[in-house]
Amino acid sequence: MQTFSYVKAASIDKALAGVGSGKFIAGGTTLVDLMKLNVEQPSALVDINTLPLDKVEKLPTGGLRIGALVRNSDLAWNDDVKTSYAVLSQALLSGASPQLRNMATTGGNLLQRTRCAYFREPGAGTPGGYGCNKRTPGTGCAALEGFNRSHAVLGTSDHCIATHPSDMCVAMAALEAVIHVEGPKGKRAIPFADFHKLPGETPHIENALEPGELVTYVELPKPIEGSRSVYLKLRDRASYEFALASAAVVVKMDGGHIRYVRVAMGGVGTKPWRSHEAEAALTGKPAHAATFRAASEAALAGAKTRTDNAFKVELAKRCLTRALKLATS
Ligand SMILES: Cc1cc2nc3c(=O)[nH]c(=O)nc-3n(C[C@H](O)[C@H](O)[C@H](O)COP(=O)(O)OP(=O)(O)OC[C@H]3O[C@@H](n4cnc5c(N)ncnc54)[C@H](O)[C@@H]3O)c2cc1C
Repeated sequence: MQTFSYVKAASIDKALAGVGSGKFIAGGTTLVDLMKLNVEQPSALVDINTLPLDKVEKLPTGGLRIGALVRNSDLAWNDDVKTSYAVLSQALLSGASPQLRNMATTGGNLLQRTRCAYFREPGAGTPGGYGCNKRTPGTGCAALEGFNRSHAVLGTSDHCIATHPSDMCVAMAALEAVIHVEGPKGKRAIPFADFHKLPGETPHIENALEPGELVTYVELPKPIEGSRSVYLKLRDRASYEFALASAAVVVKMDGGHIRYVRVAMGGVGTKPWRSHEAEAALTGKPAHAATFRAASEAALAGAKTRTDNAFKVELAKRCLTRALKLATS
């Protein structure tokens, strides 16, 4: 691990002024691991845990404002989240372990990095190590022809097929959250769909944050009256494991028909994967098995598989079909 300076930020202004080319540290459950693996080598850490960003507040608009330092467990068990945004509570509780959720924060979860084993290999992207365009642009992607069972089938490129690992983000994609940030150039709001980037030719650019920007809070819009929501996660073991496929759905019924629906998928995309194709196949249709299957086919129509991950396509279809059945039954 490279030597680094460490400072506790006394205010948001001081955090912004102090970070320079270093990094903010919140729960540390991702960043410390990556520093030990030499994936991240910040020269400075600014600890943001003392900033006043640890509240969940109801907004006059009927929405919810979640501070970037709200712990994943506090958010999952928050009464408003449990009752009005069940998909988010379920997604959070399906992630990691209770101990990790007690430390992990909303901001850190948004910015967690892929679990691709080639990316996390200490020497990746260096001479003699595995190629990894995310670590060092231009060094290739060892996963393309390597062991790629856990890798993405949607949103991939010839430069990177790393899966986005977050559960929380999949629920937030379906809820159409908005991310608020503050940086050297002031404050701005980023719609969730624009926050995470597809790898394309620049897989090292993972999100829309500019250097030195701090995530301050995430806003959820007012819940859709009369809607129900579900998060379903499929994985190799029942807990303490990342998704092979997951689905977040928010549905409002009108008689036996689907009036409003939002669909996002995890474990299969290079970013939290909102499926407008599935939504189009569901809207206005009767809520029965054939509709759900057609939506699942639409969601995975653009899938591109490699040697070991073709099974994810059918798994993801079944995951979405079942999530839709649960949310509408
Ligand atoms: C063993 C293990 C299993 C896990 N399983 C799952 C799982 O099943 N599902 C899942 O979704 N996740 C899982 N995780 C990931 C976990 O959810 C993340 O590690 C956690 O959410 C990161 O939050 P943190 O506060 O600890 O982030 P940190 O490690 O503190 O930071 C992560 C990154 O975010 C940046 N950052 C943090 N806060 C801010 C901010 N406010 N503004 C700007 N930048 C910021 C940091 O600079 C760093 O780059 C697992 C992690 C581990 C270690």
